[in-house]
Amino acid sequence: MVKTVYIYTFGCQMNVHDSEKMLGVLQKEGYSQTDNLHQADLIIFNTCSIRQKAEQKFYSELGRIKPYKKKRPEIRIAVAGCIAQHEGKNIFKRAPHVDFIFGPQNIHKLKELAAGKTVPVAIEDNPDIAIRDLPVKRKGSIKAWVTIMYGCNNFCSYCIVPFTRGRERSRPSENIYSEVKELAGKGYREITLLGQNVNSYNSDIDFPGLLRKLNRVGGIERIRFVTSHPRDLSDGLIHAVSGLSKVCEHIHLPMQSGSNNILRLMKRGYTYDDYTHKISSLREKVPGISITSDIITGFPGETEDDHLLTIKALKEIEFDGIFAFKFSPRPGTKAAGMKGHLRDDMKSKRLSEILEVQDDITTKKNKSLEGTTQEILVEGESETDKEKLTGRTRTNKIVNIPKIDIVKGKLINVEIIRGRQHSLEGRPVEK
Ligand code: SAM
Ligand code: SF4
Repeated sequence: MVKTVYIYTFGCQMNVHDSEKMLGVLQKEGYSQTDNLHQADLIIFNTCSIRQKAEQKFYSELGRIKPYKKKRPEIRIAVAGCIAQHEGKNIFKRAPHVDFIFGPQNIHKLKELAAGKTVPVAIEDNPDIAIRDLPVKRKGSIKAWVTIMYGCNNFCSYCIVPFTRGRERSRPSENIYSEVKELAGKGYREITLLGQNVNSYNSDIDFPGLLRKLNRVGGIERIRFVTSHPRDLSDGLIHAVSGLSKVCEHIHLPMQSGSNNILRLMKRGYTYDDYTHKISSLREKVPGISITSDIITGFPGETEDDHLLTIKALKEIEFDGIFAFKFSPRPGTKAAGMKGHLRDDMKSKRLSEILEVQDDITTKKNKSLEGTTQEILVEGESETDKEKLTGRTRTNKIVNIPKIDIVKGKLINVEIIRGRQHSLEGRPVEK
């Protein structure tokens, strides 16, 4: 009989892709995926612990399914991902209806865990993670994520990732190349290379070398990558982005703060000047590149002057978009134990000031594209308007176009007729 699994995914792209790996492993064991929680034989929570809010959301969902387990004691409930890694067995104390837990480095053990054939806790370090490739059941058919490295060595003072995902390990370039070739064969057109700090990819070749190698794969039209660490962004990488035809003109380069004091306390390893030099170099060598960033507001000890420096930086740099977050103390990190924690209402106030400044910049940048011609990769029906098709520019901006006879996965040229804050509107034009 076919068994079914429901996966609840929280957090970043890395987690979304980990869920695809879990499905890949389970599919081999005869499981199929269900969207109906009530029908599932196995329920997996793939969790995120980057901020407290994500943790709270998970615990409330976990509490909500307690009655299902009472009604159907045979269903198995698993907690995966970063909270599983960080909390370990404590999860059973807090939620006795959980059957087993496994961390991001132990997805390969899911077969035994799901069958109840092993101890119900798998959170140990896995040094082989980069050489042991798992089957993947992908959600999309045009764009695919490809992990190039695992873990992180940076220990930014606020961040829990190095504790949950372990030390940095790069996948051999041949394994990545084979995966990308296979994807091209299956009709995928765009790949996004994933790692916490892709610039420090280091196996038989370095990251620019890997981009050169993947640029040769026929059938793949676009190559993207996340995330780049500003400290490790090399001239070699800028050169690769500028010279390789398939590597898209977009970089996500988290700045975190515009204040040198705060950057030092965050242990980021660069100053604001270092950062803006890299931005200038990127804009000079890759004309039209879009640059997005992450900002943390209300870091311990952040003064009003520090905050104003971040606002000033946003106005000076003019990012195409940002993700901004209120600082969230994560147990076990250095920043959690620092002096000068800010009240939540102060963090909220600063966050809205930051977003207000950036919203205007984003809208202005999108409006400046009106009248230009952009290439988009058609991804399918728009999620917000079923009458439209949607795709992205090479610079990663969403464009909605009227629904016409265009196949998914095609690259087409569009004229931008309107620039809004979150997306662009376009109409197809001749190539
Ligand atoms: N490795 C990437 C980097 O260094 O840029 C991103 C890692 S993290 C998944 C994504 C973003 O979450 C970070 O860039 C940071 O802005 C934010 N973040 C991480 N820890 C945080 C914390 N404790 N509180 C608030 N935001 C946090
Ligand atoms: Fe976290 Fe810093 Fe590593 Fe990014 S680079 S995952 S922010 S420790």
